[in-house]
Amino acid sequence: MYMVGQGDLSIPFVDSHIHLYEYDKDIENLCAGNYVFLAVSDDVESSVKTVEIAGRCQNVVPAVGYHPWNIKSLEGIDMEFFENVIKKSNVRFFGEIGLDKRFVSNTFDVQYQLFARFVEIAQRNNMGLSIHAPDAWKEALEVVRKNDIKVAIFHWYTGPIELLKEIIDNGYYIGINVAAKIQRKHLDVIRNAPLENIVTESDGPYRYRGLLLGPSMIPELVSTIASIKNVDVEIVREVIWKNFRRILKDVGIPI
Ligand SMILES: [Zn+2]
Repeated sequence: MYMVGQGDLSIPFVDSHIHLYEYDKDIENLCAGNYVFLAVSDDVESSVKTVEIAGRCQNVVPAVGYHPWNIKSLEGIDMEFFENVIKKSNVRFFGEIGLDKRFVSNTFDVQYQLFARFVEIAQRNNMGLSIHAPDAWKEALEVVRKNDIKVAIFHWYTGPIELLKEIIDNGYYIGINVAAKIQRKHLDVIRNAPLENIVTESDGPYRYRGLLLGPSMIPELVSTIASIKNVDVEIVREVIWKNFRRILKDVGIPI
């Protein structure tokens, strides 16, 4: 079981979506910092790496999965690996999984089939999801809701503001990305999502419009959220940590 919050972590910053396995030598530093990570994967190979990292970093919760950008066809995607690894290593999250009509709409049908498979496995095992769904937010929400998924984080939400209410009414979470620094549209999401449904994230080491995203930008994001919500920055930090702890608790991670 992955123990989070042991030792002398007071209130850590939450990075609910990071491709930690891509950080190589910097992983040890990140593990030693005052952060808690939900570390996502992009395919089988990175899922193996992510589980291995979580085994040696107590502030890392691993998610295994298959990024929609990597899906060409269902053949060659080893679902047995995913079924096995979640049991063997007690992995409680799938991510990064989802649907993408904005960047890879040409493979949407096959993305949908794979996403439905992951969601079905998650449902059977009471797992949480880190969901990527540019321009397919509504479709992703429908699949998740129909399968009675309890914990879903809509990572880097850039969908319609009207849909936020539906996501929140279902008890799901909105991933607020550090790109809010330069992505004005994302500030509207902060304005409209209740603090109790927000978790922060970096999506590091992704490069967005020339900006290298990473967890070191999360404290600044917390301040941005605090000023938009007109709430003390320490309270925002605390509420986000509380949200993340609830997420972990709801998928059976002791904390
Ligand atoms: Zn990502």
